[in-house]
Amino acid sequence: MSPNAAGIVERTLVLLKPDAVARGLAGQILARFETVGLKIVALKMVMPTRDFVARHYPNTPEWIAGMGKKTLETYKDRGLDPIAEVGTTDPMKIGEMVKAWNIDYLSSGPVVAVIFEGLHAITTVRKLCGATMPFSADPGSIRGSYSSTSAVVGNATKRAVRNLVHASSTPEEVAHETAHWFGPEKPCVYRRADEDILA
Ligand code: GDP
Ligand code: MG
Repeated sequence: MSPNAAGIVERTLVLLKPDAVARGLAGQILARFETVGLKIVALKMVMPTRDFVARHYPNTPEWIAGMGKKTLETYKDRGLDPIAEVGTTDPMKIGEMVKAWNIDYLSSGPVVAVIFEGLHAITTVRKLCGATMPFSADPGSIRGSYSSTSAVVGNATKRAVRNLVHASSTPEEVAHETAHWFGPEKPCVYRRADEDILA
């Protein structure tokens, strides 16, 4: 049975965020994915508007509250008072604030959007990216290789954590995000020379 028939060839969306592009790391980061065997099937550079990046995120109440709760945890771990920091302990309000920081971040410069295809692409790409916070990401991962920033730094500067890359984390995110960034454009269909060896 081919890997494709077994349902393990997936597509996923990656964004090289404005800090990655501004630091001239686009080529190096794309190479990390390509070297593992992930195939570029769509790619573009865009200067997204605030409205466009706002619609990239799920924006469900659960997602907003989840972002708020994670940020509250960081304040707690550091012994910081959320009231003094951001004037509230409400996870929804804090989640909205982090969402606004993310909109500022993703619309602050050009972004490279890519659809990768390959074996277990969703999980493989997330593994290569590393943990959300570069400070906690494995040293060999993309986030761990190119930054050591953290939630503490992001929250103190009231900015989204600059962690170089975005990657879809579920099939639902892939569906929403590929449609959002590429619309009806069809990914390219071709074979890489090493596909039979990698499968
Ligand atoms: P990801 O899927 O690993 O990118 O992480 P999430 O979906 O949980 O968060 C989206 C983005 O929000 C992250 O990539 C960070 O840029 C930013 N972010 C997440 N959590 C925090 C936080 O606690 N504080 C700040 N300042 N930014 C955060
Ligand atoms: Mg995410």
